[in-house]
Amino acid sequence: MIFGALEAGGTKMVCALGDENGTILEQKSIKTTLPEETLPQIAEYFKDKKIAALGIGCFGPIDLNKESKTYGYITSTPKPGWKNCDIAGYLKRELGVPTGFDTDVNGSLLGEVTFGDSKGLSDVVYYTIGTGVGAGIMTGGRLLHGMLHSEAGHMIMERVEGDDYKGHCPFHHTCLEGMASGPAIEERWGKKAIELSERDEVWELEAAYLAQAMVNTICILSPKRIILGGGVMHQMQLFELVREKTLKRLNNYLNVPELKDMEKYIVPASLHDDQGIMGAVKLAIDAYDEEK
Ligand SMILES: [Zn+2]
Repeated sequence: MIFGALEAGGTKMVCALGDENGTILEQKSIKTTLPEETLPQIAEYFKDKKIAALGIGCFGPIDLNKESKTYGYITSTPKPGWKNCDIAGYLKRELGVPTGFDTDVNGSLLGEVTFGDSKGLSDVVYYTIGTGVGAGIMTGGRLLHGMLHSEAGHMIMERVEGDDYKGHCPFHHTCLEGMASGPAIEERWGKKAIELSERDEVWELEAAYLAQAMVNTICILSPKRIILGGGVMHQMQLFELVREKTLKRLNNYLNVPELKDMEKYIVPASLHDDQGIMGAVKLAIDAYDEEK
């Protein structure tokens, strides 16, 4: 059986075909312009591919409440043209197949726990640290949605002493995304993250904010593992710094075996940046099973 997978992002739409093992058979990238241009191109790609179902991991905020009239919509995005866009409904109508829909970060998390190194774990949090910061949450084997979906990227940070950067988030300034996203790094230091690899102070500070997020996450959700993905986390030196600073902040408060093996507790994504699209395959498989 062939499943359709869509990783819907603000700059590009990755369309792919995958099988039940998560193997990506082919994929195509379509530029995200306006919905009336981009959505028909996506539908066109999938139309003659005989897919059994479609899975969509989507940038947000999105409506995931199946009881809601706007289920499947992108809701309040600042991205021009995409506000109140019925992305899942449109593609379901055009393609006539079961359609699974979730956030891009829940998609990545699903990819990792289905096909990646975290296979089989039931309580996992996945952060993407990139242009924005987002979190996908699985608890007791289920993706967490709640009233909307997690916006852990906007948790408020305690300012690190000596850091007077104003923050990149227009809503909260000093939230996690405001202090630690790729654009925040670039604005604070005047260079792109990738050009700052050798500057230790950049990563010390970045890790100090990420560690706060780890501690908050551990205390609230008690995950068995936290996965850190996204462009900023390609700076692999961050992992050891984040692990150290997380333990330091926890200050021996929690005595559990997971936190004694930090290399297995705070980990990089394992699917070579295919976790999002592979997760979308899993969303399709689940949608198919649900409607069968
Ligand atoms: Zn914010």
